[in-house]
Amino acid sequence: MDELNLNHDLDTNSEEYGEKSKQLCDGCSKCCEYFALEIDTPETEDEFQNIRWYLLHEKVKLFITEEIDEDDETPEGEEVEVTEHWFLQIYNPCKKLAPDGKCSIYSTRPEICKDHSHENCEKYGAADDEIASFTDAEAFWKWAVETYDFIDENPQ
Ligand code: SF4
Ligand code: SF4
Repeated sequence: MDELNLNHDLDTNSEEYGEKSKQLCDGCSKCCEYFALEIDTPETEDEFQNIRWYLLHEKVKLFITEEIDEDDETPEGEEVEVTEHWFLQIYNPCKKLAPDGKCSIYSTRPEICKDHSHENCEKYGAADDEIASFTDAEAFWKWAVETYDFIDENPQ
């Protein structure tokens, strides 16, 4: 990113943040066109089937991120604790997104909107902790069969 890059020490309610944000987001509203929920990491075939069902619907994406507990990391590269987080993303625009692509409640927008960072947003680059994402139920099932021993090749 260029000099428009946001300094994360800036107060997200400050005028400076608002000004830079306005330039970076000009003509874009991608992050206001969906919401995402963290779901339980599936552990059984039935739970994978539920996710397959979600993905059979339009405008749904599953993505998985990986969180590494750096406290556990050793200089010798020994095993570290890695936690997966599974999310369901539903493409459905926010009701407060105005026709001009701007937030109509900017000063009182929810904390999650204030915390959203340009550094790994949909326009300026995917999150680097994302390890997999699917919008297609068949692709998801194929990946699950390859990755998990307990998943049947043919969904029952
Ligand atoms: S996706 Fe990025 S550039 Fe687009 S509106 Fe959201 S934060 Fe701004
Ligand atoms: S409240 Fe505003 S910033 Fe938040 S998703 Fe809706 S339109 Fe976007």
